[in-house]
Amino acid sequence: MRFVPILVTLAVLLVTSPLCADEISFERNGKQYDLTGQVIATHEAGIVLHTPDGKMWPIQQQEITSRQKTTASFKLQTKQELIDSVLAEMPPGSQIYETAHYLVAYNTSRSYAQWVGSMLERLHRGFTSYWSQRGVKIHEPNQPLVALVFDNQNSFANYAQAELGDAAKSVIGFYSMHTNYVVMFDLTGGAGNSRRNLGTRDIQRLMSRPDFQWSLATVVHEATHQLAFNSGVQQRFADVPLWFSEGLAIFFETPDVSSSRGWRGIGQISKPRLGQFQKAAQSGQPFLPDLLSNDDSLRKAATSLDRYAQAWAVTYFLQKRMANEYDAYLTELSQIAPLDDPPEGARIKMFQKHFGADLIQLENEIREMMSSLRP
Ligand SMILES: [Zn+2]
Repeated sequence: MRFVPILVTLAVLLVTSPLCADEISFERNGKQYDLTGQVIATHEAGIVLHTPDGKMWPIQQQEITSRQKTTASFKLQTKQELIDSVLAEMPPGSQIYETAHYLVAYNTSRSYAQWVGSMLERLHRGFTSYWSQRGVKIHEPNQPLVALVFDNQNSFANYAQAELGDAAKSVIGFYSMHTNYVVMFDLTGGAGNSRRNLGTRDIQRLMSRPDFQWSLATVVHEATHQLAFNSGVQQRFADVPLWFSEGLAIFFETPDVSSSRGWRGIGQISKPRLGQFQKAAQSGQPFLPDLLSNDDSLRKAATSLDRYAQAWAVTYFLQKRMANEYDAYLTELSQIAPLDDPPEGARIKMFQKHFGADLIQLENEIREMMSSLRP
């Protein structure tokens, strides 16, 4: 009996504390931030704060100037509040095109925003039905997903500069774990206003052209990251191996502009990635242990193309040949909390637990499969 009061207290704590908002003040680059949100992860080096607009802020302990719990509860913004927040970040005159799951904020033509909205919805449908057919539990995003569509590469780069630095000028789209937005620009581009007359059908026709396929794949790739982070497949700021996130996004990126229903590009052979894999394979150098543990090798310009191709190849092999094991591995990765710091070697151990201890044998099977595929 004497345990009962303790259990009650614990239960009350568990129920109330996650709902109360945190007020955090911090200083970064000479600028003061006062935010209210919910601390969703704590580490000796810092915290992650989730704010009502859906953003997540990784904040270092040394940046924090004050921190307190409020009695008010933490609530995500409603759709209308979110629309107002998003428009405040866009150039003046921008508008919102709403679909079932997305808010597309744009300062280009409405037809282009519509085309983006319908593409994103098809991807959402394809993504959801793919995992449900596989028996993997995912959930709907807990807020509408936001896509920003700028009218040209310059206005896109102006916005992206703050997050990407100089890389903003050379990319055509990105997903931000901080804002949770997928950001892109009108690919029909071109000078003058002629494109403003394009209808969604004209845009569809233009996007089917071979020269648009790579750009389109990039946008779909980034939108897949957004879906993975908002459906429970992965948690933002969690230590999920980069090859896994990237391999998954590439698995979904194969463009499909023709179908009007679900996304049919899922799991098709990625011709550019297969070609790159086969080229890299000629060296005969083993890649798997490094791919599994070294995220930087995917980020560095010198190795990134090979590594992305290998990430795709491993994902393709595992999803086709070891689907149940892949799903169990995905489920275990989805439970890694933000800022969780796994010990050295933990990634390889977890991988071996699901796919077997013999990495050399597995790598040989992947190579064999890849050499039998035709780009
Ligand atoms: Zn990616």
